[in-house]
Amino acid sequence: MMSSEGMIMAEKNQLKKYREKRNFKETPEPKGGVKKKSKKPIFVIQQHDASHMHYDFRLEINGVLKSWAIPKGPSLNPAIKRLAVLTEDHPMDYANFEGVIPEGNYGGGTVMVWDFGTYENIKKISMKEGFKKGQLEFFLDGQKLHGAFALVRTNFRGKEQWLFIKMRDEYASAKKNPVTTQKKSALTGRTLRQIAKEEA
Ligand code: MN
Repeated sequence: MMSSEGMIMAEKNQLKKYREKRNFKETPEPKGGVKKKSKKPIFVIQQHDASHMHYDFRLEINGVLKSWAIPKGPSLNPAIKRLAVLTEDHPMDYANFEGVIPEGNYGGGTVMVWDFGTYENIKKISMKEGFKKGQLEFFLDGQKLHGAFALVRTNFRGKEQWLFIKMRDEYASAKKNPVTTQKKSALTGRTLRQIAKEEA
């Protein structure tokens, strides 16, 4: 158990970047905080119609949402490796955020909760260790995505890069593509356009 003081320090450090990038007088995004871990750890994938459309994949690890921007979104095909760009830790409350970040603000554009659910660590080391090593393997139990996935850190032309990969199991598919066939919010059933209109 972490002491409350330790919790506050961890919070300051872990969410510093997140808070520095945002003006909470302008953005409806949550200020949030570090939380005690959920019974089952959660994940969320948010489609983000910003300057470039992308999908933000977030995994609960030690009281925050570790986050990666995946330009093309997840694939169910184990042969396809999707680039995942590590971004700043987000607060747990962010998992429920769906709305519009006003133009001119960091990440300005519409955010939709494309998928959410819980996950299970399927590697023999902790998620914290896995993150440090750049080797995460987890089983997703979402509204849309199911099965085993991996996030692997590689070195590409001297630059560290993460790849998001579907692992081989009964949920893998070279044909199904939920990014194009299941476009609505897993939280509210709305389209990006509806969210943009209703939350503006
Ligand atoms: Mn984003």
